[in-house]
Amino acid sequence: MLNGNEGHHAARVAHIKKGDSITLIEGNGSAYDAVVDEVVGDHIKGHIIRLMKNYNEPYIKIHLGIGILKGSKLDIVVEKCTELGVHSISIFNLKNSVKKNTKLERLDAISSAAIKQCGRGFKPYLRSCNLEDWIDGSSGDKRFVLHNEKKSKLLANLFSSSVKYENSIWLAVGPEGGFSKEELDILMRTNFKQVSLGLRRLRSETAAITSVGLIDQLTIQA
Ligand code: SAH
Repeated sequence: MLNGNEGHHAARVAHIKKGDSITLIEGNGSAYDAVVDEVVGDHIKGHIIRLMKNYNEPYIKIHLGIGILKGSKLDIVVEKCTELGVHSISIFNLKNSVKKNTKLERLDAISSAAIKQCGRGFKPYLRSCNLEDWIDGSSGDKRFVLHNEKKSKLLANLFSSSVKYENSIWLAVGPEGGFSKEELDILMRTNFKQVSLGLRRLRSETAAITSVGLIDQLTIQA
C-alpha cells in the first residue's frame, strides 16, 4: 500500500504501526480511511475501510492567476493557497515581474506536501501560462482583478454567498510592480472587475493568500 518515500516517511518519521488508522491522499480529490496490517521496513500494507470523495474540498473552484514573484514568494503562495482550497494557480510572466521564470516542479512538490499536511484530497493544478490564455479559459461573472485603487469595490462586499458547487471564480493578482496599463486594459476589456482588499498596498503574496482565504471562508456553507 505504501512504499518508497511515502513508506519511509510513514514508517520512520510518523512511526506508523500495525493496527493504526491512517488517511491516504492521492491528490485526485479522493481520500481513503485505512487500517495498517503490516509494517516491514519501509513497506506498509493495510486495507481500506472507506472512500471519501471530494475530501475537504471547497464548494467553489478558485482559479488564481498571479505574476511571477521574486525569491521564494511563490512557494509561500502555493503552500498557503493550497491549504486555503485554491483549485488552480496559473503563473504569468508579466511586464513588471522582476523574475522571468519559475520552477514548477518545486512548486508542485510544495503543493503535494501541503495537501497531506492540511488533509485535502485534491492537489491544485499548477502551470505557467500567458495572461491572455488564462483569460481565454475563464468565463462567467465572477472574474476579478485585485487592484489597490480607491474606486475599486471591496472583494468581501461583492461576493454573494449564493454560490453553487459548480461555480468558479477567477482572481488575478499582479507582481511586485503591479499590472502594467496594457495588462489592466486587457483584463478590463474582457470584463474582469477591479476589486480591492482594503486601504493598504499589500505585497502580491499577501493579496493572493488573503483573496483565496476570503473566498474560501465566504463560500464554506454554500
Ligand atoms: N506598485 C504597485 C503595487 C503592486 S502590489 C502599484 O502601485 O500598483 C502587488 C499586487 O498586489 C497588485 O498588483 C494587486 O494585484 C495586489 N494588491 C496589493 N494591495 C492590494 C489591495 N489593497 N487590494 C487589492 N489588491 C491589492
